[in-house]
Amino acid sequence: MQLSVWRRLCPLGSLFDPVLEKIERTLADPETLSLLDRAEAEERYPDAVIERLKECGLMSLLAGEESEAARPISLWHLAALNVASAQASGSLAITLGVNALALLPIYIGADESQRREIFGQVRGGAFSSLLLSELAHGSNLARNQARAERGVVDDRGEFRPVDDGTPPTHYRIYGEKQLINGGTHHQILVTLLRTRETGAAGAGELGGASSHFTLIRVPRGPGVEPLPRWRTLPAPAADISGIRFAGAIVPAENVIGGEGNGFFLVQQALSISRGGVSALAAGAATRARALAVAYARQRDIYGKPIVHLDAIADHLLRMEALELLASAVSLKAAATLNALGPAAVHYGCVAKLASCALAEEAVAEGRQVLGARALLRDLPYERLLRDVVLYGIFDGTSHVVLEQIHWRLAQSAQNPGGAQDTVTALGRLFQTPPQSLVEVGRRRGRAFVLPIEVHARALAAIPGEVSLEPLADLAQLLLVFTRAARAAGLWDGDQGIRFAAAEIFGQVETLIAAAELADPDRRKALGLPPASGSSLVNIYRFALSWRGGRAAAALRQLWLGSQIAGAEALAAVERAFLLDFQAARALGREALRQTEDP
Ligand SMILES: Cc1cc2nc3c(=O)[nH]c(=O)nc-3n(C[C@H](O)[C@H](O)[C@H](O)COP(=O)(O)OP(=O)(O)OC[C@H]3O[C@@H](n4cnc5c(N)ncnc54)[C@H](O)[C@@H]3O)c2cc1C
Repeated sequence: MQLSVWRRLCPLGSLFDPVLEKIERTLADPETLSLLDRAEAEERYPDAVIERLKECGLMSLLAGEESEAARPISLWHLAALNVASAQASGSLAITLGVNALALLPIYIGADESQRREIFGQVRGGAFSSLLLSELAHGSNLARNQARAERGVVDDRGEFRPVDDGTPPTHYRIYGEKQLINGGTHHQILVTLLRTRETGAAGAGELGGASSHFTLIRVPRGPGVEPLPRWRTLPAPAADISGIRFAGAIVPAENVIGGEGNGFFLVQQALSISRGGVSALAAGAATRARALAVAYARQRDIYGKPIVHLDAIADHLLRMEALELLASAVSLKAAATLNALGPAAVHYGCVAKLASCALAEEAVAEGRQVLGARALLRDLPYERLLRDVVLYGIFDGTSHVVLEQIHWRLAQSAQNPGGAQDTVTALGRLFQTPPQSLVEVGRRRGRAFVLPIEVHARALAAIPGEVSLEPLADLAQLLLVFTRAARAAGLWDGDQGIRFAAAEIFGQVETLIAAAELADPDRRKALGLPPASGSSLVNIYRFALSWRGGRAAAALRQLWLGSQIAGAEALAAVERAFLLDFQAARALGREALRQTEDP
């Protein structure tokens, strides 16, 4: 398996870990890949590969060693696992990935004895699922109906409901969860259940219902009925199914984080897991780029490999740029979440939004390179086309994530921030070694968001070969537009405008992450070791120029379409970004034709 750009740009330099290394080797082994191929073709759960990975120590990445100090569970290593598994197979990647997702509420909210018991099960090989979704209610979890009735079990073993004032000893569970990853296979079912009815005031809205839900670990047994698997376009070997609860009785000790705290825990967990999804997307982009570059270097239809056709080289160069951006924004999420826990929610959201879209684009570019070979079921690229669309759907669709990002943008526009040393502050976060997720996941603190314009200006002020002035100007103008749209009453009244602006916010944050991690001068100023392997500088220059110009154009279009004065300033920003485009493209084409991958 090639070293991904995600690994090459990792701010910690090497992420050496013997278990991870064994897993990566196993995932690159042709025998593993052929087992995965067979599972995908037969739409069969990939047990055989999972067994191999367990032999490599997979479960210790999820549950640590017996003593937490011996091997802390680290977000960095879980993210690296996502990158590597997404390169091998989308089905495998989400089958593994759902474990970390389902265990996050345990890391964050379980008490010590619950952790000991659950981690013991995990170390023994148990896989986990997170049961949130109900078909009727989709993204609006506040409307969910699956419920846990509070009660006590009497001397005869009969369940008797109790009123709100009486502490329950047990819960009786009814309802149905659907589209659950691992629904028929996984043993640990971390389930969001209604424990109080929603009054008229809060019907269906999160604000009114946030204390009405509880997370409960439900063991498989009487009253827990697996429902048939769904056949899915992406990840056909994954076990996406459902579970019906028909009066399962569960002891109160199985409540995670206290009754009524389910929503809070889910939100905290999603704050972190969205960064993890971005690592899956970055892995998919890496795989797509590797397949497309290899193909273009060997496919000869006119007397030379097709990489010598300019249009083909441009597709590949764009793929490299998209992979670099997806990787950089994902790494920034990993670094900030590792250092700060859920307080870095903004960077997790931005990474999920941006890297899923970038990976989709990268895979579409590759389709143009592989022609028919992108569409043949017996060749590997076709699987990427199907898998990559999934990452923007689960753990909160891109729309749901945009709901959070536009809100932060409005906040940033209102409080653009004063003079502060953002570079030193961020450098410290990037350099924070892998922390225990159990420890960092529990940290509470105000959301951490660097003031975007101040920070972009600080990066631009660091002497370097690449000018970041256009990026700082773009950040500034995005805040200007947001203030103007709010003043004109367009912001509150039009979700389309808010989302379009939030997407550009995500793009600017992504370019900033690329500058921090792929620009050697800025990377050094942040106190980070050089990126590994051959230079990525030219791909970064191309990415900045191409995507910066495009983000400026998108903001100008949004601005003009909103009938607000002042959009003209963006033309100069777009031009400034594109000054470097021709030169970076020429160098990029040349490099693709000459070099072997690192
Ligand atoms: C392969 C796969 C695996 C999954 N695994 C799990 C799992 O393990 N556990 C689990 O609980 N669930 C899982 N899901 C379910 C997944 O999380 C949901 O499908 C997802 O949350 C969206 O719900 P929905 O599809 O019903 O869309 P809906 O919520 O019905 O949304 C319909 C459309 O409206 C958009 N939308 C929603 N809210 C807004 C908004 N506020 N503003 C604008 N647009 C909005 C959506 O983006 C979407 O485009 C999985 C789904 C798939 C496909």
